[in-house]
Amino acid sequence: MSTRRKLVAGNWKMNGSLVANEALVAGLVAGLGEVACDVMVCPPFPYLAQLRSLLAATPIGLGAQTLSEHPVGAFTGEVEAGMLRELGCRYVLVGHSERRSLFGETDAAVAAKFVAAQGAGLVPVLCVGETLAEREAGLTEQVVSRQLQAVLDLAGFAAFTSALVAYEPVWAIGTGRTASPQQAQAVHAHIRGLLAAGNEAVAAGVSILYGGSVKPQNALELFGQEDIDGGLIGGASLVADDFLAICRAAN
Ligand code: PEP
Repeated sequence: MSTRRKLVAGNWKMNGSLVANEALVAGLVAGLGEVACDVMVCPPFPYLAQLRSLLAATPIGLGAQTLSEHPVGAFTGEVEAGMLRELGCRYVLVGHSERRSLFGETDAAVAAKFVAAQGAGLVPVLCVGETLAEREAGLTEQVVSRQLQAVLDLAGFAAFTSALVAYEPVWAIGTGRTASPQQAQAVHAHIRGLLAAGNEAVAAGVSILYGGSVKPQNALELFGQEDIDGGLIGGASLVADDFLAICRAAN
């Protein structure tokens, strides 16, 4: 049994409104007493300031869904790492599969974002995962290794003392199709093994979250796996009772 503390993160994607966010946070806070794991939420950029204030007196951490790899300057529409820090973010997702597939983020860009995040004192949550075609072609480990290696090449192994990894099979995100606990555990162990090859202590300490249609019904078995240290939750993080039930499964 690992001693790593479990963390459950909510990725709100492009959802929310001032009114809905307030109700969701009120629902979460009301049920937090029974939650023992770390919890954080990642709202869309425009709501970070609102969430900073709503979460101020709570143990819930704040994260952003992406960031720019660039320093401040002429990058219209982008958001720089230090701005996220100033708005109270502790975490930031990097390389979410929707960013990679819909917005063309390459492994190199994801690695640069990871470094930019750490440069501003943010904890990056590096998202990796294979598509269905890649899994069916037997390429899962190869794809995940390539995505992780791009970050290791730029940031080094020690960078993972203040970072998290999220394994999110693309075919399981928002589809209702979850990796079995055994499938997920196998990839998590592979990721930890890659990190252990460079630094065993870092590998033993890094939290690796699972994401992809986690629901109250499947969370307990997933989080019970040796190398699964919590979850990155999309759809179910928008419903307070479901998100809380998933957090309790990580207790
Ligand atoms: C996600 O957005 O990272 C995710 C895992 O979504 P869902 O839980 O809806 O599959």
